[in-house]
Amino acid sequence: MTDLFAGLDDRLPALHELYRDLHAHPELSFQEVRTAGIVASRLRGQGWEVTEGVGGTGVVGVLSSGDGPVVLLRADMDGLPVLEETGLPYASTRTAVDAAGNEVPVMHACGHDVHVTCLLGATAQLARNRDAWQGTVVAVFQPAEEIGGAPAVVQDGFAERFPRADVCLGQHVSPIPAGAVGTRPGPVMAAADTLRVRLFGRGGHGSRPESTVDPVVLAAAVVTRLQSVVAREVAAGSLAVVTVGAIHAGTKANIIPSTAELHISVRSETAAIREQLLAGVRRIVHGEAVAAGADREPEVVVTETFPVTANDPAATATVLGAFTDTFGAGPVFTLPQPVTGSEDFAAFGAALGAPSVYWLFGGLDHAAFDGLDQAALLENGVPSHIPSNHSPLFAPAPDPTIELGVRYLLTAAAPWLAVRSGRAGDGRED
Ligand code: ZN
Ligand code: ZN
Repeated sequence: MTDLFAGLDDRLPALHELYRDLHAHPELSFQEVRTAGIVASRLRGQGWEVTEGVGGTGVVGVLSSGDGPVVLLRADMDGLPVLEETGLPYASTRTAVDAAGNEVPVMHACGHDVHVTCLLGATAQLARNRDAWQGTVVAVFQPAEEIGGAPAVVQDGFAERFPRADVCLGQHVSPIPAGAVGTRPGPVMAAADTLRVRLFGRGGHGSRPESTVDPVVLAAAVVTRLQSVVAREVAAGSLAVVTVGAIHAGTKANIIPSTAELHISVRSETAAIREQLLAGVRRIVHGEAVAAGADREPEVVVTETFPVTANDPAATATVLGAFTDTFGAGPVFTLPQPVTGSEDFAAFGAALGAPSVYWLFGGLDHAAFDGLDQAALLENGVPSHIPSNHSPLFAPAPDPTIELGVRYLLTAAAPWLAVRSGRAGDGRED
């Protein structure tokens, strides 16, 4: 299509090496010091203007090639507290101390190492082939996507300190065959709220439950009854999920503890369903506490909120058109509905008043799918035996995922960067 891709083949071995290094050295949210250091030094080496420490550990690179639109390209850098079980030769064996002071294993279980590698590949291509485009690119390597770090970048004066983007572009590697790429206009990722619920019982000896209010039994009743919120209260066909992902209570078999804690993830597609789900959770938590005879009202705290990630329809049509022109219609899909995962990427478009487009691309070997085609995957979802993001077994196939991830970023940006085909050769100094 254009010479934005010139030299990419020669760069791939180094990108694969970078990927293996990042994968073996994951860092928790807001602790991405090593990763940020690598990003900053690579960007500088490529000739980008670099700002470090944006919103904590964020790195922002700016590169201009004459007048033209400003395109924001974004990657996230954090890993997760997951013990890697992929068995890969470059698997992580790292641990770190989390925000609560606990030592935890760390893994790039969401594939953000793929995102960093692909964006560094794209920035290298943009720097090398500067004569092939016009405008300005702002490359954002943000911290802490997993806990909603984008607002920290925005609140660090992002809109004032860097060229204001005309479009914001972001991507995520997904548990679908490598080569597939797509998105949808409008909502593409769900809103997510994380709730921390503390249930208060009355502790005592395990041999005399009659003298206690057992918060373990209360927690079990809450977990069971929460399953009815989506199943019985939300209309069929609406995107809604309530998951209790963590439950903590007690220390020993013969001690009835005095409290129990639940961590709950609530996903929704619209503000109305979000309110309905949150109200349902609160009602059940309080109702079960009353039913248990608890002396004290439970505490319900919303600890994280991610808004719906919505794609601008016109910009999305432009990106999907560029993908189809470059890769053919076959691998390019339009999602029938938003996915239930969530993102903080919308914070950039919201802060800049700019349209944004966020797409998903495949990262897995075709062999894993036993001949399932793209249409079947879109219709029925990813089969449950295939490890997805956040699984200890999630293992993107570097070849061809990394090369394609670089190509998607460049292809999506191209319509805004007035890309010329063929050699420009205007002799501009780099
Ligand atoms: Zn994730
Ligand atoms: Zn992710």
